[in-house]
Amino acid sequence: MKIAILSRNSKLYSTRRLKEAALKRGHEVQIIDVLRAYMNITSHNNTIHYKGEPLVDFDAVIPRIGASVTFYGAAVLRQFEMMGVYPLNESVAITRSRDKLRSLQLLSRKGIGLPVTGFANKPDDIKDMIKMVGGAPLVVKLLEGTQGIGVVLAETQKAAESVIEGFMGVKADILVQEYIEEAKGADIRCFVIDGKVVAAMQRKAAPGEFRSNLHRGGTSSLIRITPEERSTAVRAARIMGLNVAGVDLLRSNHGPLVMEVNSSPGLEGIEAVSGKDIAGLMIDFIEKNAKAGKTKTKGQG
Ligand code: ADP
Repeated sequence: MKIAILSRNSKLYSTRRLKEAALKRGHEVQIIDVLRAYMNITSHNNTIHYKGEPLVDFDAVIPRIGASVTFYGAAVLRQFEMMGVYPLNESVAITRSRDKLRSLQLLSRKGIGLPVTGFANKPDDIKDMIKMVGGAPLVVKLLEGTQGIGVVLAETQKAAESVIEGFMGVKADILVQEYIEEAKGADIRCFVIDGKVVAAMQRKAAPGEFRSNLHRGGTSSLIRITPEERSTAVRAARIMGLNVAGVDLLRSNHGPLVMEVNSSPGLEGIEAVSGKDIAGLMIDFIEKNAKAGKTKTKGQG
């Protein structure tokens, strides 16, 4: 097969591993920097050009689109879909999961466990909003934050009020969330492929920190997840419409709570911790599913 990997940096661990796994299985691979691809939208013959040449005869495309290039990256992926190229994750599913509020709303509709979450634009009563999510301590998150940046734990009512006011003052979009204290600074990353959790790891925050992000000094280790955690992760990925997803869970007193569903989960940590060839499993999935016209939405959703 001829496989395109949409990635801005061919040196990234995940990109390198996917390329290696595809080559090992005898496929042809081209890494495409989405921002450099340009497109021609016509009624009959949509094309994508890259470095002066048309991209033709691809069977499948693996999107590894960073959060900062979601909009244009999704457009390039959609163009591949229009051309009948099979996407590992579809553009609609990616844009759906990138919108944190939309994701939480879709997950809640299907009864998935979530931390109680409030969001607002210009709340006229911040105190009432805090009450709505159960009061302090609570977590205030910047909607556009990644790697734990802009995630603040407000331990008291007063702290919560001033943090919310502060973020609003700089016109940042935020969400306000129940703090799951019993998770003890740990979360669980479940790597889902094709409706199965193929590997899971626990990430634990550094001492004195509640955010378990590896970028914030967190450490990761192998963990056995419960059947309930397994089914929650699988359902969350399915609701988002993602064939491949990294589902982040918090262990609460009332079962697993989904924090986020990631459409381009990194491979480095999970392959190191699990010792599994996750990149190979992703290519296996493509081999099983990539047939002309198999894409379900063709970017229409
Ligand atoms: P990012 O997307 O920037 O990584 P997250 O929402 O995943 O932000 O939050 C970063 C970390 O903070 C999580 O990995 C988790 O350890 C911790 N955390 C986030 N929300 C909560 C919460 N509601 N209760 C307890 N811990 C939380």
